Amino acid sequence: MPQLGFGVWQVPDDEAERAVTTALEAGYRSIDTAAVYENEAGTGRAVAASGLPREDLFITTKLWNSDQGYDATLRAFDSSQQRLGLDYVDLYLIHWPMPAKDTAADTYRAFEKLLQDGRVKAIGVSNFLTEHLEQLIQKTSVVPAVNQVELHPHLQQDELREFHAQHGIATEAWSPLGQGKGLLEVPTVIAVAQKHGRTPAQVVLRWHIQLGNVVIPKSVTPSRIRENLDVFGFELDTDDLAALRALDEDRRLGPDPATFNVA
Ligand code: NAD
Repeated sequence: MPQLGFGVWQVPDDEAERAVTTALEAGYRSIDTAAVYENEAGTGRAVAASGLPREDLFITTKLWNSDQGYDATLRAFDSSQQRLGLDYVDLYLIHWPMPAKDTAADTYRAFEKLLQDGRVKAIGVSNFLTEHLEQLIQKTSVVPAVNQVELHPHLQQDELREFHAQHGIATEAWSPLGQGKGLLEVPTVIAVAQKHGRTPAQVVLRWHIQLGNVVIPKSVTPSRIRENLDVFGFELDTDDLAALRALDEDRRLGPDPATFNVA
């Protein structure tokens, strides 16, 4: 799985087609969509039009909450696959644990079937807390390859990252730029950016890369799409890492997975 990919949350279908085309031209090879984003079709059209060999691409999609459950999951995957126009999906994720519904294990058993049938190359989860991961690992056979969670300098997720490391689960950061809001204007981030002659977004993405996180920044602006990929030509030093470490506030931008049960 490429460590840096391109996310398309909140991008309407037609715009997603344009943005994914720009991203693939810029050199991204990993794309993160979801059934609930309603842009799997646009993503699929961009992939098809790119002419890139399928094996060079890494396409992730996610099962929405209302489709949890064994049979519903298999039906939902059929629809996602059809919209994407792909023979297989590289990574399929349970979008939220939905603890009140308690169907994550049944859902994941359907994922294991899709994996066995070669329709997905890897299976994982998103927004799982350690307690959700523990329960899932206990009840099912295949350890999730990935847990995609909210993670940025204001929410560094140390405990969860440690749990992932112990179980061989890759940490994938959503909203890696803190949704581009206050984080990119924090004086510490700006100072580190100036020191390296880079942008605040590049510094934050570089921080993720050095921590070992998979990142999937989103932008629909071509210059930013290219800028966000250009983070491999410099390195943060221990002072920079310590300064960024001090920004942790344990503060979420999105919902708390313990209580988010919206279907
Ligand atoms: P992000 O942290 O990637 O921020 C995106 C925003 O930051 C853009 O809309 C833009 O306003 C700004 N931005 C981007 N590049 C910039 C640059 N170079 N300079 C200045 N500003 C810049 O936020 P996100 O879209 O929430 O998260 C990224 C991806 O993560 C999503 O597109 C989606 O694929 C995934 N995601 C998953 C979940 C989940 O529940 N699994 C939830 C949210 C997002």
